[in-house]
This record gives sequence, C-alpha cells and structure tokens, in this order.
Amino acid sequence: MFIHQLPSIIPKILPKLTWSRLDSAESRKVYFTFDDGPTPEITNFVLDCLADYQAKATFFCIGKNMLANPQLVEDLVSAGHHLGNHTMNHANAWKYSLLDYENDYLACEEVFAQMKIKSVGFRPPYGRITPYVYHHLSSKSEVFMWSFLTGDYNSDLNSDDIIQASMKHIKPGSIIVFHDSAKAYLRLKFVLPALLEHCLHNHLIPSTL
Ligand SMILES: [Zn+2]
Repeated sequence: MFIHQLPSIIPKILPKLTWSRLDSAESRKVYFTFDDGPTPEITNFVLDCLADYQAKATFFCIGKNMLANPQLVEDLVSAGHHLGNHTMNHANAWKYSLLDYENDYLACEEVFAQMKIKSVGFRPPYGRITPYVYHHLSSKSEVFMWSFLTGDYNSDLNSDDIIQASMKHIKPGSIIVFHDSAKAYLRLKFVLPALLEHCLHNHLIPSTL
C-alpha cells in the first residue's frame, strides 16, 4: 500500500518544515511541485500542460540537470514558474556524510547563483530529513515537504488510482509532488492533465510557492 499522505502527527513534530501553505481562509491556491528535472521532453510536456491551463508550478531541480539543460531552465523561468534546490546529484541524506551532503546542497546553490535564478527553497531528495537538514538548512532556506505524494514514479501504481486518490486529497493549500523524470512519465502524462482539469472544475488555482 503506497503512502500518499504522511500521518498528520509528522508535520506537528517537524514544524520547521513547510508541509502545506494556506495564505488565507479564502485562498483557492494549490501548489503543484515537480522534482528531479529538468528532463528533455518530459519537462517540455509539463510546461505545455501547465500552459494549457494557465497554471503555475514549482520545480525542485537537480543541479546537474540544470547544467545539462540550460534552455529548459530558461523556459521554466520565462513561463513564470519557480525553481528550488534539490541538490546537485540527488543526494540521499541518510547515505551521504554530513560534509558531502552539505557540499552537494551548496553546489546546487552555486548553479542557481551562476544562472542568476532565485531559489524558492530546498526539497530534500527522497524527503529524507536529518538533524542537519532540520536545524541547519531550515534556518538558511525554506524546506518544502508535501501534503500529498502522487507516487507517479512508482510502477506498481496505475494512473487511475493516483488520479482518484489525488482528487480526494487536493484542497486549498495542498502541496503536491510530481516528478518531471523519465521514470514518472508513463503515469504523469495521464495524471497531470486530469488533475489540472480537476482544479479547473473546482476553482482551485495551481500557483507557485
Ligand atoms: Zn527527488
């Protein structure tokens, strides 16, 4: 059984991290986020889908993918989307040494600086948290987790089940995770248009973080 939503106690015990964002009681904003890109063709597909619905989103990019695909980075920025740091090499906080992890985070910050792009904050790869991420990085930059993980990368899930589960969850303030990666595309190509359509019908506004 795939865990789309963490138990509600987790955000309460880790309050320095951002799990959802409700600006006001009247807000209709929801936050679509795309991790692990930019990826040729797949990020283009996401850009086209978002443009069809005049939706804005946030992309937590891998630094080495930004360096490999500078045109895609430019396309994301010029379309009005926001970008965030997802480390240089998709570093796993539970496997890297503290120093290696910090260097991988900083190398991605450096890519943002070189490309003169403002990062909205950090999303730890695999959602893995350590005391360093929790106490240190969260004091330097906003750390974004999520309220709903689509699981689009998981080949055990089918698109219809993801769509049904997502529709039940999405509400104002939700932060939803997708992946603009090759692994996720088989499901993403069905899930993303369906959820954008769902937002349109329910007066929810996909917005940047
Ligand atoms: Zn990732």
